Amino acid sequence: MSTLIQPWAFRGQRLVSTRALLTNRAIVATARSLLATFSTLPALHHRIVADFRSDTLTKPTDEMIKEVMLSASRGDDVYEEDDSVRSLEHHVAQLTGHEAGLFCASGTMTNQLAFRASLLTPPASILCDRRSHVYRYEAGGLAAHSQTTVYPVQAIANKGHHITVQDLEREFVVDDGDVHMAPTRLISLENTLDGTVMPLQEVQAIRRFANENKVRLHLDGARIWNAAVAAGCDLKDYTQEFDSVSLCVSKGIGAPIGSVLIGNRGLIKKARHFRKMFGGGWRQAGGLAAAAHWCIDNVWPTMKETHRLAKYLAEGIEREGRGASIYQPVESNMVFLDLAGSGMLLRDLSQKLKGKGIRIGNEDAAESQTQVRLVLHWQISREAVDDFIEVVRDLAEVSVREDRVSSPSEEDDESETNGKKQQTVYCRR
Ligand SMILES: *Cc1c(COP(=O)(O)O)cnc(C)c1O
Repeated sequence: MSTLIQPWAFRGQRLVSTRALLTNRAIVATARSLLATFSTLPALHHRIVADFRSDTLTKPTDEMIKEVMLSASRGDDVYEEDDSVRSLEHHVAQLTGHEAGLFCASGTMTNQLAFRASLLTPPASILCDRRSHVYRYEAGGLAAHSQTTVYPVQAIANKGHHITVQDLEREFVVDDGDVHMAPTRLISLENTLDGTVMPLQEVQAIRRFANENKVRLHLDGARIWNAAVAAGCDLKDYTQEFDSVSLCVSKGIGAPIGSVLIGNRGLIKKARHFRKMFGGGWRQAGGLAAAAHWCIDNVWPTMKETHRLAKYLAEGIEREGRGASIYQPVESNMVFLDLAGSGMLLRDLSQKLKGKGIRIGNEDAAESQTQVRLVLHWQISREAVDDFIEVVRDLAEVSVREDRVSSPSEEDDESETNGKKQQTVYCRR
């Protein structure tokens, strides 16, 4: 195993020395002053990307490409001969307390591979939160790839914050020989889900429930990095409770592309086989793996700062927004904003923000759409957040002057979750 880590350890050392060297150059001084309020970031690799639509929109920096990707190994991953890929897989397996890992192109692929490799014999069904990505936003992949049906679970307790054992019990399909049924074979959790963090005790309770009922437990951990940071626990505390975990590196971690599936050797071997069958076997993927590895080691430690900035944005909007509200607790990097009652239109807000180089989702929203999801990531600066709050304040002032502030409307086709009327704000791109 240690031979797998060595090439990377060497590269890591080289990187540090290159960065130390570059730090002395005068050109860095300007970048430094820009970063004064954001000092925990690895300065040389920081770049400002004021895009709040999603944390997938981080951009690889020139340095990441020149220093990290360029020095990656160039072996063939289908031959399992690329050191950077194997080093990343090993690294994530270690961090999560599992035997093996598989680096893939997307989180959809790692989720779908986990299901396909776990659910070998139909008829079968899975249980997951009805808001889950695997159920709603993976193009019906579960039905297509794994011949599986889903029983979506509604979170009822805790104001719908997260599903519980009681919620799962309601939908659980027992394997009792009834030919009408597709027995539950797997439970899939998502953490964070819409930016909210599932408490570790609940995950542990669900693990016990899964054991008692002899079903597998999968985690869509696209943002488990955020959950662990927000909960203040070790990544392992969460991930070791699962049979398989999908972790995105292309979101909060800030890597250009990819997702890692982890589990035991048998599962990963099967997943690798299915990945080839799905056409996802890739060749010289080392550059991408090296970037992901670097980002885990260097960007992940800045995540706490990102979460703090999300809270700061939410507080600023509530303070200056004159009726604009944050309708979900800010627990990690997402802020859910509702303009209803403030008299501001989402379209106007987005136009004004664009003038400052800031982008948000639902840019050409209809007038009835008042809600939007704002996502923060490591390349969003404190300055961009201050600009954001300033735009909200200016727009809110206009709204008050023109007497457009009202009490929130109750119409529209909205669904109820978290005890709040909600519109569809998920950014699907
Ligand atoms: C983004 C995301 C995925 C995977 O998305 P890809 O675009 O396929 O990488 C899976 N689950 C959740 C919760 C996500 O947010």
